[in-house]
Amino acid sequence: MSRSIDQRLASLTWAAMLAVALPAGATDLTLAQKLDLLVSAYPGSLVGHENGAIRFRDGRLLPVDDGKAKDHAEKLAAGDIEDSLSQLYPAGPCETKPDVNVDPGRIRSDALMMRLYGKTAKEVEASLVPVDWFGKVLRVTKRQGAAAALENVRDELKAMPEMKAFLAPSAGTFNWRKVSGASNMSVHSFGAAIDINTQYADYWIWSGGKPGKVAEYRNKYPMKIVDAFERHGFIWGGRWYHYDTMHFEYRPELIALGKAARVSACR
Ligand SMILES: [Zn+2]
Repeated sequence: MSRSIDQRLASLTWAAMLAVALPAGATDLTLAQKLDLLVSAYPGSLVGHENGAIRFRDGRLLPVDDGKAKDHAEKLAAGDIEDSLSQLYPAGPCETKPDVNVDPGRIRSDALMMRLYGKTAKEVEASLVPVDWFGKVLRVTKRQGAAAALENVRDELKAMPEMKAFLAPSAGTFNWRKVSGASNMSVHSFGAAIDINTQYADYWIWSGGKPGKVAEYRNKYPMKIVDAFERHGFIWGGRWYHYDTMHFEYRPELIALGKAARVSACR
């Protein structure tokens, strides 16, 4: 299968980011190191960080820290950039059982996401492109290389025909909405998330969970699928205490951060 220029560019950007030099054996990243990785994960929009703010290509700044002390529920409801980088995401082809309130990636800065992808449904929709997903067309944002990264995931998974039943039909990509039962925006709003075949899904709310008190973790998807997504910059909702196993979202900064901090799903 021939890969598009966008797909090749997504792979190259990704490889360059993972090659960012960090001290050997680093486990505790400073906020500045985390922000370096955040900036390199979104080269189309971000150019740097200075004095507690990240700088966008158009010169605008966005503060990293709102200065408020928050518990986990408050971080989920209204995370700032610092909060969104506070839990390390462990990637790798192994299953993890997340500890209470360990939800790496579930904390997000809506302000950042809106600047990366669009602040209204209409603005996001203007950047959606068709992605063929096992015979059906999905709409995914081309911003930040997300659509091309998803095509790279698809091409890898197509080589494993036994995975198709878990992947298709997709339960959806773009959908402008809040996280179910919450006040923050779902990454589906930005066209940068995909739900795979819901038939194999486990979801903390369906299992009768309450925020901070979730029934036993379950997963029915093969880890080869998770591994393919993660290697192209997507995080998996199956690594969250508040688990959502059909859900993947494009968060290359978190994959890079976990690698830099040497955390892994396979110990
Ligand atoms: Zn989802």
